[in-house]
Amino acid sequence: IREEVSTPRRTKEIIQRHGFSFKKSLGQNFLIDQNILGKIVAAAGLDDTKGALEIGPGIGALTEKLAQEAGKVTAVEIDQRLLPILEEVLEPYSHVNVIHGDVLKLDLQALFAAEFGGVNGVSVVANLPYYVTTPILMKLLEEKLPLEHIVVMIQKEVAERMAAAPGGKDYGSLSIAVQYYSVPELICTVPHSVFIPQPNVESAVIRLTVRKTPAVAVKDEAFFFEVVQASFAQRRKTISNNLKSRFFPKEGRERLENLLEEAGIQSSRRAETLSLDEFAKLSDTLLDAGL
Ligand code: SAM
Repeated sequence: IREEVSTPRRTKEIIQRHGFSFKKSLGQNFLIDQNILGKIVAAAGLDDTKGALEIGPGIGALTEKLAQEAGKVTAVEIDQRLLPILEEVLEPYSHVNVIHGDVLKLDLQALFAAEFGGVNGVSVVANLPYYVTTPILMKLLEEKLPLEHIVVMIQKEVAERMAAAPGGKDYGSLSIAVQYYSVPELICTVPHSVFIPQPNVESAVIRLTVRKTPAVAVKDEAFFFEVVQASFAQRRKTISNNLKSRFFPKEGRERLENLLEEAGIQSSRRAETLSLDEFAKLSDTLLDAGL
């Protein structure tokens, strides 16, 4: 029996034998800790009827663990130099498919149809490249893919913003976007020592349980997110001042104040105190007023 890919010894052996050099620009920090890998995989609740989509398999540390739990594993890797390594490492697992590509450019609906036809639910499980964490997660959520969970290792500070409740400094448009589509939970924080090379930022594992329907019903989704963005444009300003600059730059205050009152929101409040429900009410009220 071969040692697991993720032991420090085997990872170093694979890297040396293939003459692989890490590319910082691709966010390459590989996991070398069994315990953390175990926690990530456990949080996804996989079994042999389920599929897993991994983004950025690296040399296959997490992919191997996923292969041991899931019925089908598809991994998308951008770095061509890793393909021969993945082929070697994952050779024992016929239900694992590695696709060479940039996840941000792939047609994920088509990928799902091609890769996960026979499975009973798919989750994304990944140790994400930190330079593109938010674009990747927003793409997964906005495309409304049929996902159960998204379990990802990301920068701790970003995880905290995603999971933040109204009222604190971490709560902002990212919290609202993520919570509109999913229910976030912080699974654990992770020390630098579990990666090679060690990243400069702190890390955490977060689980997003994807909602079947969004957290709030809004009349126009794009407008809802526009209102959220505008409300947070200058965090220290009141909601009324931010909305005025964006939607009523040339008018007096009265119409805006009336609309805020109609939406049940005091004009002296700041965006960081508004719940998703309140933002939904606010955006529908502004929309109905012809904005
Ligand atoms: N899963 C491995 C592990 O945990 O050890 C590697 C994780 S490493 C943090 C991120 C991986 O994502 C790297 O292998 C990198 O080459 C890959 N990657 C970076 N940008 C990508 C993109 N746009 N699409 C797909 N893979 C990407």
